[in-house]
Amino acid sequence: MASVDPHILIAGGGPVGLFAALLLGRRGLRVRLFDENASPQADPRAATTHCATLEILGEAGLVDDMARVGLVAPIFQFWDRPSGTLVAQFDHAVLKDETPYPYVIQCEQFKTAQLILERLKALPNVEVLQSHRVIEVVQRDAAVEITVDGPTGPRKHRGAYLIGADGGRSVVRHQCGIEFAGFTWPERFIVLTTPFDFGAKRGYCPRSYFADPEEWCNCFKVSADGPPGLWRTVYPTDTASSEAQLMSDDAVQARLQKFFPSAEPYQIVHRNLYVTHQRVAARFRHDRVLLAGDAAHVNNPIGGMGLNGGLQDAANLAEKLGKVLLEDAGERLLDLYNLQRRTVATEFVQQQSIANKKQLEERDPETRRRNLDELRRTAEDPALARQFLLRSSLIAAQRRVAAMTLEEVDR
Ligand SMILES: Cc1cc2nc3c(=O)[nH]c(=O)nc-3n(C[C@H](O)[C@H](O)[C@H](O)COP(=O)(O)OP(=O)(O)OC[C@H]3O[C@@H](n4cnc5c(N)ncnc54)[C@H](O)[C@@H]3O)c2cc1C
Repeated sequence: MASVDPHILIAGGGPVGLFAALLLGRRGLRVRLFDENASPQADPRAATTHCATLEILGEAGLVDDMARVGLVAPIFQFWDRPSGTLVAQFDHAVLKDETPYPYVIQCEQFKTAQLILERLKALPNVEVLQSHRVIEVVQRDAAVEITVDGPTGPRKHRGAYLIGADGGRSVVRHQCGIEFAGFTWPERFIVLTTPFDFGAKRGYCPRSYFADPEEWCNCFKVSADGPPGLWRTVYPTDTASSEAQLMSDDAVQARLQKFFPSAEPYQIVHRNLYVTHQRVAARFRHDRVLLAGDAAHVNNPIGGMGLNGGLQDAANLAEKLGKVLLEDAGERLLDLYNLQRRTVATEFVQQQSIANKKQLEERDPETRRRNLDELRRTAEDPALARQFLLRSSLIAAQRRVAAMTLEEVDR
């Protein structure tokens, strides 16, 4: 027997599933969320939270706490690694008339998840069941039924809708037979985290991108357990080396030393290796099942857009499900969700993240020089810088989809 119907089931308690639960719960809807882990995972993935996403998180009352446990970073830089020169510096302050949040907040995603979890405790209509893995999805008549494997064995749950926010390897997406079209980069990305203070000792700002035809790098500051914080450095790896070779003490030390020569060996507090994809689900809606976050789209992390897109999915979807369930709005609104969020994923996040990577790794000397000159010119011209930042901060994407209507769904 399936348990009593909650209105909405959510598979996945990463930041996207949790944020959807919070927004739906605050509308008074009954929500049951399942996550296979016992608590949010602290691996070094998303930190950069852009203006457009801060606007949504601000409405939910999360931004002050994110700034308290994270870092406010108005500026980011592009460096030319071979010559050691600063090519361009962008200041989000040029967006001060466009957004109440003219900066990014560097807040590790497990901290964002934790802040949301704390708020969910105040909502008796939201149940969070950790150590519960969703294993099967079936749609029947006016309900969706899922099988969930928990500490007491498998059990069925029914709901009016299911949100699949269960990450890039989404069981929900597989169960619905939704294609995840795109490609996987041949090289993996390695993240090496160190307390070495690249700000004080090298003049890098909390988001610094390094172009290099041999091996690019992103260098980010996160607050970790408080001042002075940690720096995460991200590099591509060569495809021939095994994980053991890439992650060995000698190899990670050599990688950091090659990129950022230092008289002392680096203290390395974490090392992580990621396979990276560019994929978008063929559809984000399958009747009563909606995909959000990495379950719906994945991209390389250069530019910090994956989780931002996912949190925006959650807010868009929660608003529409609220209207469908509480205001009798037609289900076609959910097709508008599909159209709006697939547009952001394909026309903004995929394009931008691929372009960001190509820009950093460009090998042709002439193209490289042109790219860097253009970046320099863009940063120096306030009107061009504003356009650039509107796109990189996803404000342009949010404006584009806000203008979309149900009529466009039918076209
Ligand atoms: C190195 C790196 C740096 C990044 N930096 C940024 C950045 O700065 N900014 C940015 O926007 N993005 C960034 N990203 C991307 C970001 O990490 C992801 O987009 C984000 O984690 C997506 O959140 P999510 O909640 O959709 O999925 P996840 O965080 O993957 O969460 C999915 C959840 O579902 C649970 N789950 C999985 N399967 C099941 C199941 N069958 N049943 C129940 N639960 C299940 C998992 O336990 C997990 O808690 C980065 C990624 C990497 C690898």
